[in-house]
Amino acid sequence: MASYLYRCGACGPWEVHRPIGTAEPVSTCPACGAPGRRWYTPPLLNRTPAAEASARLREEASGDAPAVTTAVPPAARRPVARDPRWSALPRP
Ligand SMILES: [Zn+2]
Repeated sequence: MASYLYRCGACGPWEVHRPIGTAEPVSTCPACGAPGRRWYTPPLLNRTPAAEASARLREEASGDAPAVTTAVPPAARRPVARDPRWSALPRP
């Protein structure tokens, strides 16, 4: 059995379990009865944490269209830590 995702425009996605290769391109929404199209997703990415899924998609896209750096990025400003007790210290 495999899990197939379908998406209804009004109710959102739902999952259908069927034998591999038997998924229909359109299924009936269990909530409202409207037809919902099959939602093709990368394997297991719908259950992967968002940050990891985003990293995987960026990695996959970099093979075809790598991001090219054309200039040195500006130096990041580091915030200066201010401790109120510093004002009580003796000045040189
Ligand atoms: Zn629906």
